[in-house]
Amino acid sequence: MSAILDKVKAPVLEDYFGMSDAELHERIERARRELGSRLVILGHHYQRDDVICHADLTGDSLGLSRSAAARQDAEFIVFCGVHFMAESADILSAPEQKVILPDLGAGCSMADMATAEQVEDAWEQLSSIGVIGDFKVTPITYMNSSAAIKAFCGEHDGVVCTSTNAVPLFDKYLKEADKLFFFPDQHLGRNTGAKFGIPLDEMVVWDPDKDLGGNTEEDLRRARLILWKGHCSVHGRFKPWHVEQVRREVPGIKVLVHPECIYEVVQASDLNGSTEFIIKTLEAAPAGSKWAVGTEVNLVNRLVKRFPDKHIQLLAPDLCMCATMYRIAAESRVGAGIAPRGRSRQPDRRPRGDGPLGSRRARPDAGDQVKRILWLIPMIACRRTSPARIMLTCSV
Ligand code: SF4
Repeated sequence: MSAILDKVKAPVLEDYFGMSDAELHERIERARRELGSRLVILGHHYQRDDVICHADLTGDSLGLSRSAAARQDAEFIVFCGVHFMAESADILSAPEQKVILPDLGAGCSMADMATAEQVEDAWEQLSSIGVIGDFKVTPITYMNSSAAIKAFCGEHDGVVCTSTNAVPLFDKYLKEADKLFFFPDQHLGRNTGAKFGIPLDEMVVWDPDKDLGGNTEEDLRRARLILWKGHCSVHGRFKPWHVEQVRREVPGIKVLVHPECIYEVVQASDLNGSTEFIIKTLEAAPAGSKWAVGTEVNLVNRLVKRFPDKHIQLLAPDLCMCATMYRIAAESRVGAGIAPRGRSRQPDRRPRGDGPLGSRRARPDAGDQVKRILWLIPMIACRRTSPARIMLTCSV
């Protein structure tokens, strides 16, 4: 082991630029073998192949977090995803396990659209006009939100949902509450509400930059759903004309989209559901069937390779890539370069009480060996940086 660490000691970026892909892969795999069960690497579905190929487990954010928590022998959990995912893994993991986000700048643009302070302010405004009080309002936050907002929902008898369980949770809470206040993805909230027959004029959008979220008191009293003004920049790229175009160009094709897409796209699609639903639908589809899939491009490309007997294509002709997720590859050197700090997070996002991923469990030397090894993973992708990739990375 020490021989390996000597080789990767005090790395500088240029060292890796000079290595071949094969050499980098070999070094990573050798180091992973040495660390064995002490290390588990999680790769979110939206990561690129050159990161995914080093993952022990792949999946969606909650599934990966649960799987990691079940791996109690793993001292280090490396989450190749975005901030809220690593945060969720840290919440679910044991205190002695250390969760590492390789790039501290890998956030989620949707999660960043709602802060705990804004949510608390909105709640106070609704209380001040009697909407909370005269009505039972239940807060529900999507998994793609900060731990502080998840804690807020917990404190106010609310719940955290995923795109997989949004429907059953809406079913339960619509029966118990007069209104749901849904954060931060208005589209998932609207699309799920529509599945329960809630008309659009009973759904209002809360804009945190405006008084009463830009609504009248009457609107808020009448609304069944109050939807936070947030969205996913990736799924928001799919437009109704993409659906029309693909149906024109590929007769018989079915359109399968994620419910983070806008309402009009979901309404125009044949099927919609979570990432796991999309994968299972394609697994079960007959050979020769044709699918246009509206979700992140790396996942779609892997599905194309996995099911060569089916015609699968991205719904939009242009790139639909998660630029924040992409930073794991492009800038993970930052996370590795400040290894002595251990895990890190944005202080204003800590949940109340003992926060996950915080300094409470970080030691100055914690995870140095692992972090040196992890250095190598993003370097493979970084070396292939193209102008388009730079643009995408810089756009966040
Ligand atoms: S795909 Fe959208 S919701 Fe998922 S991490 Fe990227 S920006 Fe956030």
